[in-house]
Amino acid sequence: MNLRYRKTIIAGNWKMNLNAEAAKQFIAQLKPLAAEAKWCDVVLCVPFLQIPAAVKAAKGTKIAIGAQNCHFETKGAYTGEISCAMLAEAGVKYVIIGHSERRRDCGETDRLVNQKVLAALQAGLRPIICVGETLEMRDNGVTLDLVRMQVKVALRGVMQDQLRRVTIAYEPIWAIGTGYTATAEQAGEVGGCIREVLRQNYGARAARSVSILYGGSMNTSNAATLLAQPDVDGGLIGGASLNAESFGKIIEAANQE
Ligand code: PEP
Repeated sequence: MNLRYRKTIIAGNWKMNLNAEAAKQFIAQLKPLAAEAKWCDVVLCVPFLQIPAAVKAAKGTKIAIGAQNCHFETKGAYTGEISCAMLAEAGVKYVIIGHSERRRDCGETDRLVNQKVLAALQAGLRPIICVGETLEMRDNGVTLDLVRMQVKVALRGVMQDQLRRVTIAYEPIWAIGTGYTATAEQAGEVGGCIREVLRQNYGARAARSVSILYGGSMNTSNAATLLAQPDVDGGLIGGASLNAESFGKIIEAANQE
């Protein structure tokens, strides 16, 4: 983390979990914990249907509500899809784009991720762009090449003045929901590599302003060590974001001056 240059962000990804009532209760429980988080932004990326209840429950608190996906078009014949403008209108501030589960299950490509990133920025949302390798790729030594490419393609056409609204989450696929976590050194190395791509493309100042998160079995026991890396500015958290108490403890670990 480096508070001089950028925000620390702790974002929960609820995936397809928790109904509207549970969302309300969760936010009520998290509210006092999030209020303590002076040095850290708190985001909950909830299922589409839970957005209205979550936005209402989070009103006047430090908790921002995010979505887990969006469509790149503003409107039209796209059955089952939700546009970024619709999300913004509903009070959503962040949107996860290119999560590995969507890349795997919905065939999302880097090009599609890029289209969604541009649409999200256009609508005033803050995209959280997910990148990361499989275990096989890591074993073959291509992690950094892959991540460089994913970041470059995702950001095609993003202007320098839009970059400060972008967050990048390094999420090694082998660590998501598996209980295996990248070591702090691995997370820090990839975070540093992402920062270098940003520096080459946008200059040092703009690159410094981007928060780079780590995601992949982050929990109450490993959060502080991972967050101590200079290029790990927060976490994107799945499993441990489903319990307000554990999520609150991760926020506490991140809320360091
Ligand atoms: C995620 O889904 O983005 C994630 C990091 O999940 P988990 O924390 O459960 O590994």
